[in-house]
Amino acid sequence: MAKRDYYEVLGVSKTATEEEIKKAYRKIALQNHPDTHPNDKAAEERFKEASEAYEVLSDPKKRSAYDQFGFSGMNDFQGGAAGNYSNVYRDFSDIFGGSGFSDFFSSFFGGGGRQQRGGSYGEPGASLRYDITIDFSEAVNGCKKEISFSHKVKCSSCGGTGGTGRKQCPTCHGSGRVTQGGGFFQMATTCRTCGGSGYVIENPCAACHGTGTESKSEKLMVNIPAGVDNGARLTLRGKGDAGTNGGSDGDLILFISVRPDKYFVREGSDVYIQIPVAVTQAALGAAVLVPTVDGVSIKVDIPAGIQSGTMLRVKGRGIPSLRGSSRGDMYIRVMVETPRRLSPKAKELMKELAGEIKESTSPTPMEFQE
Ligand SMILES: [Zn+2]
Ligand SMILES: [Zn+2]
Repeated sequence: MAKRDYYEVLGVSKTATEEEIKKAYRKIALQNHPDTHPNDKAAEERFKEASEAYEVLSDPKKRSAYDQFGFSGMNDFQGGAAGNYSNVYRDFSDIFGGSGFSDFFSSFFGGGGRQQRGGSYGEPGASLRYDITIDFSEAVNGCKKEISFSHKVKCSSCGGTGGTGRKQCPTCHGSGRVTQGGGFFQMATTCRTCGGSGYVIENPCAACHGTGTESKSEKLMVNIPAGVDNGARLTLRGKGDAGTNGGSDGDLILFISVRPDKYFVREGSDVYIQIPVAVTQAALGAAVLVPTVDGVSIKVDIPAGIQSGTMLRVKGRGIPSLRGSSRGDMYIRVMVETPRRLSPKAKELMKELAGEIKESTSPTPMEFQE
């Protein structure tokens, strides 16, 4: 499911302070509150979306989980974040400094940041976030994935215009705000005629209610390049929400998570694997088959006398780089295994062997003091 990034929803940067987040949310909530927009589905959606984003970003724990793991990080919190905006809704008096919502609405905060937006400016579409999880081998070798998401596109009935008879708002003359009162204490509030947009549409499109956009489900085949790492982002230009009135389209941003592999551990462009060898192989030397990230196994020479924990390097068998043709290396950690469940004959041979090699062949002599 495609969902808008929470920071995007509130229009704040990833490094925004708590105060900035609160302010941004307050602005959106005021503009879209169900009390002032009864039966306006779009406003209700915006309000819900902003409330959900605020609930997460205002809580340091949830915010940090979201920063690290995206929407999937939210599952750890009871009930999840989705649809849980009612908590915020109930705590409204807190957000609005103790006063009732309507009192607050009529005070100076009125229109929020819409005043700069004249009637002739297009509004850019939102960028959307899409979380996708792929296998380790898919990340190493690249893959194609089909994704389904829904985004806003130009309304097919009105072609994105929102209707006919579009003209400058006669009340605010395009500024989106009106000033009330006289003398020293003037208050600017959102223009009620145009809702702050600065223009009015005389015959709003019946299909989109004048918004100029409609929701559309889409399927896309995405090429995920070889070498992507956990946490990588892939931007699909223009695949987010459509802009209105000539505003640019948003992007669809893929947040990629890579499932850990059973054998391989990645570190940058290098890959690590642990290989068990028998005591006899370690002592005598051997050629062993080692799997690689390409899916084929290669023969690796284990030198005679190797110690457990020794790291062997195989050049160019790591992760391909996203750009160019270079590749990292593979590191093989050799783990010498001590045999268990010896047969009587093996036990006899071991004893014989012990007598033969004694301590003189021990590679790491130790001296103990009393
Ligand atoms: Zn107006
Ligand atoms: Zn329309």
